[in-house]
Amino acid sequence: MRVGKCIIFFKKVDYKYQAIVLGKYDVAETDRIYVLYTREAGKIRLPAHGVRKPQAKLAGNLETLAHSEVFVARARGKGRITGVIPVDFFASIKEKIHTMEKVFWVLGIFDRLVTQEEKDERIFELLLGYLRAIDAAEVEDATKTDIFTYGFIFKLLHLLGYGLEMSKCVACGAMLKPGENFFESERGGTVCAACAARGGKRVKITDEAVKFIRLFLENKIENLGKIKAEEKKLSNLKLVASEAIKWIAG
Ligand SMILES: [Zn+2]
Repeated sequence: MRVGKCIIFFKKVDYKYQAIVLGKYDVAETDRIYVLYTREAGKIRLPAHGVRKPQAKLAGNLETLAHSEVFVARARGKGRITGVIPVDFFASIKEKIHTMEKVFWVLGIFDRLVTQEEKDERIFELLLGYLRAIDAAEVEDATKTDIFTYGFIFKLLHLLGYGLEMSKCVACGAMLKPGENFFESERGGTVCAACAARGGKRVKITDEAVKFIRLFLENKIENLGKIKAEEKKLSNLKLVASEAIKWIAG
């Protein structure tokens, strides 16, 4: 659900950001620091003064998950948030408890994986596309949510420069054959059974998981809803994702 434009309040404005709120934490008596992923500057942290006062209007448009236009006045440091125009609250996500839990879990992973304060519009579009795709689902469907969620995670890993080689063995370079294969987090790709037998830290990867990851990387996030799957076939995919996240984010 998109919300209408309503200007909350403005003082001085030096910067304007398209932002998705990743999280927030309280500081001082009534202030809050917001962690935002912005189209213009990547991940940034910005304070908002007085937002925890009962009459403050800013906080409602800066809830975690919200897509907003954020206005910043620069006094010292990076400045502070002085105004917000809400774009989308993703209200439909918040109506579905399990979906919302999954999305909040992913925002936490996103926050851990994206550490650089560096502009990358592809990552902004991916995050926005993921939230819109999940928001558009009319009923709670755990499998579909998982496909979008793991599709998002693998696409994000790829955009962050993590290789995800899924057609060759990263150790010997041989083309991958269906059957017994492994995934090595450190080298970011599949390893054949012969190479895996020589040791190293690897987890099994099923042919289905290889196929899913290829589909995720070849397709736009909004089109991943067309992928049909049974929930139990996603368990290996989840294991591979958690191994890769552990290796990158620690
Ligand atoms: Zn090999």
